Amino acid sequence: MTDRDPTPDTQLDAGDFASWLVEIRGAIRGDNPSDVPCGDCTACCTASQFIHIAPDETDALAHIPSALLFPAPRLPSGHVLMGYNERGQCPMLIDNRCSIYEHRPRACRTYDCRVFAATGLEPDDDKILVAQQVRRWRFSFATQSDHDAYDALCTAANQLRLDPSELPQGISPSNTTHIAIHAIEIADTH
Ligand code: SF4
Repeated sequence: MTDRDPTPDTQLDAGDFASWLVEIRGAIRGDNPSDVPCGDCTACCTASQFIHIAPDETDALAHIPSALLFPAPRLPSGHVLMGYNERGQCPMLIDNRCSIYEHRPRACRTYDCRVFAATGLEPDDDKILVAQQVRRWRFSFATQSDHDAYDALCTAANQLRLDPSELPQGISPSNTTHIAIHAIEIADTH
């Protein structure tokens, strides 16, 4: 928990852009988790998302009832998904808190809604609460070169959105999160 102002239209400090870019690229490679200052926000836990859990995530799997898991389509045996309830909430969200926070899946550890603020992309239409949160983030830029890197990333993301043929196989053009993450991976920000 933080002392962050919960008012939806209040700006939030997203941190130094250049430092964040290094961190998120590490998280995408699997080198480190994302360190998102979520505060009280549970928007991504209530956004009707299927949570992918890989077979090597034994700790998470041990803390989630198997009845909540089902085989992940188009992925090898052992990969599973956790769905959401009739209100679009993850079933592990209890009293507005993650009940397995220390054991949460990798997808939750690496999700960072600042990928939208960094690329200028909007979350998918059904992610209203996530979109509200995204509009609050504000990065800071230590140098003009950092700001140029931000501009380059927004341009790369917009190009991918407009021309999904540039997306690699397996990335759906209708999944804005995946487009944003791919843009972060490939954008020339040096
Ligand atoms: S497992 Fe926890 S962090 Fe992940 S979506 Fe569910 S409630 Fe949120």
